[in-house]
Amino acid sequence: MPEHDEADRGEQTPAPTSPSAQIPRRIRAVGPGWQPVLARLHDQLTALCPGYRLADVKEKLGGLRVYVDALGSGERDAVRSLIKAAEAEAAVTCEFCGAPGRTRRRGDAPHGWLKTVCDSCHRAWSAHQIMLVNGSVWQRRST
Ligand SMILES: [Zn+2]
Repeated sequence: MPEHDEADRGEQTPAPTSPSAQIPRRIRAVGPGWQPVLARLHDQLTALCPGYRLADVKEKLGGLRVYVDALGSGERDAVRSLIKAAEAEAAVTCEFCGAPGRTRRRGDAPHGWLKTVCDSCHRAWSAHQIMLVNGSVWQRRST
C-alpha cells in the first residue's frame, strides 16, 4: 500500500485560524488546572453564539487570555463579559492543579517568570520540579 499524505492530516496540528477552531481544540494551550475553566467558557460561548471562532488562547504574564474573532454587535458585550469572568477565575486558580492560587513569580524573585499557582505548586515549580508541557504537568523524576 502506498503511503498517503492523509496520514498527517487531522487533529494533529489545528491551525489557530482554522474556521472550526473553538476552545476544545486548543484546550491544551493551558495547564490542566485551567482546562475546566476553559471548558465551561466554551459551553457558555456556544450557548450564546454557537459558531464563535477562537482567535487565540494562551497564558500571558501568568494570566489566561482568550481572544475570539469579531462578532456581531449584539453578542460582543455578552461574549466579552464571559471571557472576562473566565480570565478572572483563572487568575485565582492554580494552572497546574486547579486549587485556589494567585499569580506569583518563580521563587518570588523580583524578575521571575509569572504563573498562577497554589502554594504547593509554587514550591515545586520554583524548585524546577514541575512544568507544563502541552497541557499536562510534567514532573521531574526523583532519582
Ligand atoms: Zn497547584
